[in-house]
Amino acid sequence: MNKTYSIAIDGPAGAGKSTIAKRLAKELGFYYVDTGAIYRTVAYFFDLWGVSPKDVDGIERYIDELTVSIEYDEEGSQHMIMNGMDVTNDIRTQEISQKASLVSAHAVVRDVLLDMQRDVAKRHNVIMDGRDIGTVVLPKADVKIFLTADAEVRAKRRCDELLAKGQKAVYETVLKEIQQRDHQDTHRAIAPLKMARDSVKLDTSHLDIDGVIAEMKRIIGEKIAL
Ligand code: C5P
Repeated sequence: MNKTYSIAIDGPAGAGKSTIAKRLAKELGFYYVDTGAIYRTVAYFFDLWGVSPKDVDGIERYIDELTVSIEYDEEGSQHMIMNGMDVTNDIRTQEISQKASLVSAHAVVRDVLLDMQRDVAKRHNVIMDGRDIGTVVLPKADVKIFLTADAEVRAKRRCDELLAKGQKAVYETVLKEIQQRDHQDTHRAIAPLKMARDSVKLDTSHLDIDGVIAEMKRIIGEKIAL
């Protein structure tokens, strides 16, 4: 089998990972894998089952009832399939963001999802984004980028995104939720959000999307012949 290339993008919520990764994947002809969506799907499943994201016993009891898979449409957009149902839009709420952050702290959840993520990268050239891609999921990724921005900038971006989708968003609330998620994601015992030693840090606070894309291409171009 030919070598596949993988680009790992990690960073906190709202740093612009998915917007950037999606565009880059299209330009490079790579698969885009949004791993946050997988954790969101798990959170959504337990929400439907009435199991608290903190209830590790309940999660262990029912996790075998969950089948989660990723499908791509003709435009290359990722769809999340939960027990045969497309839940791609249902998982994009602030409530599920918080629950995903809690549910993703459990080893039983992370273990179940690890092979699934590695398997896509084994078969395709991927740009995969998340919190532990460069550190745990794909430690041998060809390129690792840690995308970050000030919490205030990230909150503003997330607000604009929610408002554009017709959802309600209050800046102060979104900022508080982002800070809470940052804390949970960086302080958990298993696979916490942290920069891999061989990762390149890119702060997007003062860059627009085109600026970030240009910088990312430069970083990627140093490791992979584009
Ligand atoms: O990236 P997104 O905001 O959709 O991720 C939702 C939550 O899923 C994060 O706050 C994080 O707790 C969890 N997550 C994770 N590991 C990943 C991707 C996401 O723990 N690789």
